[in-house]
Amino acid sequence: MGDQWIFLNNEFVKKEDAKISVYDHGFLYGDGIFEGIRVYSGNIFRMEDHMDRLYQSAKSILLTIPYSQAELSELVVKTVDKNELSDAYIRLVVSRGVGDLGLDPYKCKQASLVIIVEPLVIFPKHLYETGIDIVTVATRRNRPDVLSPMVKSLNYLNNVLVRIEAHLANVSEALMLNDQGYVAEGSADNVFILKGSKLLTPPGYIGALEGITRNAIIEIAADLGYDVREEPFTRHDVYTADEVFLTGTAAEVIAVVKVDGRVIGEGVPGHHTKKLLVEFRKKVVTDGVKVSSADHSLHDV
Ligand code: PMP
Repeated sequence: MGDQWIFLNNEFVKKEDAKISVYDHGFLYGDGIFEGIRVYSGNIFRMEDHMDRLYQSAKSILLTIPYSQAELSELVVKTVDKNELSDAYIRLVVSRGVGDLGLDPYKCKQASLVIIVEPLVIFPKHLYETGIDIVTVATRRNRPDVLSPMVKSLNYLNNVLVRIEAHLANVSEALMLNDQGYVAEGSADNVFILKGSKLLTPPGYIGALEGITRNAIIEIAADLGYDVREEPFTRHDVYTADEVFLTGTAAEVIAVVKVDGRVIGEGVPGHHTKKLLVEFRKKVVTDGVKVSSADHSLHDV
């Protein structure tokens, strides 16, 4: 691979030269927002949904993105093309920008914008065959009325603490409950449970990000005739579910076979989870925006 190009504020710079000020409020206060987007065989999966979520996050925190949504979408496509990647991960970050050491966001005159496109680090293939073990952790999800989990903000400390607890428990992902004890989501994934004919995922107000993968699965499952519901559920419902899986841009659809030591179903990825993954992978190459560097596909996950 040649040079990696980062779009920084208003120009392409080499990775080594992509630097942000230590006075940037994204760094000082986590004051900003981001998106993680995936490119499959030259198709930026559901790019419009990601851009909508980014602009809604910006609106929610009164952050002005220095480009229109159409302009920024074009810049994302250009950055993928410039890096000549057809299977990639895109990280789009917009922070409040450079200010002084004080908290006042109005001292930051211009938002900082970063578009990073990297070769895809594929989630270990064997995990789709074995499923994963997870735990629930003591760290509760941010209350939606304190810091809304619907805003994909740079303040991921809540999620980082969950990842630390997962690490201490020797697992790769964990579930957070909300302040009332309902299951909210993973540190970087949404959660679904299948019980009989019902497929449930927590509604946003419980404390879950409206994941793009989650929304795709809701649509796919409804089309396949599942009784899909956005409904609150508890740990007990998870333990006694027939199937449990997580969804996210990185993980796609990954089966969970053990939660807090309770074996889910037969202890292997369930039939419905596998079917939904197959259908999801059909969509990822068609549903989105095409880039022109769509030639050399790595898509084998
Ligand atoms: N919840 C959280 C907290 C996340 O960070 C992510 C990853 N963006 C998700 C859920 C899954 O969302 P998506 O399917 O849009 O990647």
